[in-house]
Amino acid sequence: MLIPTFEYEEPKSVAEACGLLAEFGQEARPLAGGTDLMVNMKKGILSPKHVVSLARIETLKKVEVRGSTLKIGAGATVADLGMSQQIKDNAPALGSGARALGSPLIRNLATIGGNISSARPAADLPPSLLVYGARVVLSSTQGDRTVALKEFFQGPGQTLMRPDELLTEIEFEAAGPGAGAGYINLGIRKVQDINVINGASFIALDPKDGSIEKARIALGAVAPTPVRAHNAEKVLLGEKPSADLFARAGQAARDDCSPITDFRGGAAYRQDMVAVVVRRTLETALKQAQP
Ligand SMILES: Cc1cc2nc3c(=O)[nH]c(=O)nc-3n(C[C@H](O)[C@H](O)[C@H](O)COP(=O)(O)OP(=O)(O)OC[C@H]3O[C@@H](n4cnc5c(N)ncnc54)[C@H](O)[C@@H]3O)c2cc1C
Repeated sequence: MLIPTFEYEEPKSVAEACGLLAEFGQEARPLAGGTDLMVNMKKGILSPKHVVSLARIETLKKVEVRGSTLKIGAGATVADLGMSQQIKDNAPALGSGARALGSPLIRNLATIGGNISSARPAADLPPSLLVYGARVVLSSTQGDRTVALKEFFQGPGQTLMRPDELLTEIEFEAAGPGAGAGYINLGIRKVQDINVINGASFIALDPKDGSIEKARIALGAVAPTPVRAHNAEKVLLGEKPSADLFARAGQAARDDCSPITDFRGGAAYRQDMVAVVVRRTLETALKQAQP
């Protein structure tokens, strides 16, 4: 099927892009890497009359650390994130997610903003962003608002972003000394596949006695949106890290999800794999927290 015809807009600033989204409302769609939007337009799922390209907005492409806060422009590509030294030093689980996404061709086009905005339950970047406690900045002609990423996802393909808003920035505190995070995805094929399950874990250790003082676990492909595994987090808090503790957290995480059965995997298989993914990502997190 051919892509339906549309007007192509190329704003050079966020203000100009927001002006176009305000003017055209539901008839406009932002275009970042196009790896999701163009597929949906070709399939006839979406047919916006105005496509607002973000490619020329240089300020959206930044990856920077300000104080202890990482600030990532929505237009940073997944390849940028996978190769960035700043991401490697401050948010390695996000780097792992970026390197696990698609193929080199897709990673060179796909952006972090597009990965979040498309709100796919199995997307590779949200779990690590959720465990780092990320916030997203939504911009419009009415100004900016900052929303916790955990509130942003409303359902498959659904977010709380209005049609006149643009996701402009993702920000979170860098994992400092004594903290670490890990990310794993599992698919039927090694690359170019929708995840059967993916997940990330973050822990921060109390410097006095080495017990776990912060724990955040997030899972994808096990519910309509990426979810936090609060039962598993409770198992960890206040405890000393150990193989047995991580196995118990993995088992507890099974109750935090409600996976479906589809041709990629059964619900029971997904729940079994949740336990494995949680245990292994906690092991990676601990290695970073106790170098
Ligand atoms: C072959 C193939 C393999 C893939 N493999 C993976 C994979 O392994 N893992 C994975 O997670 N995904 C995968 N994807 C899905 C897709 O590549 C990613 O979700 C990608 O990150 C989307 O980013 P994009 O910049 O291309 O978004 P686009 O396609 O440009 O946009 C996606 C949606 O978000 C909106 N949007 C984009 N940017 C903004 C913004 N700044 N503000 C508001 N709305 C915005 C668009 O209007 C559109 O609705 C794959 C896709 C293909 C075609």
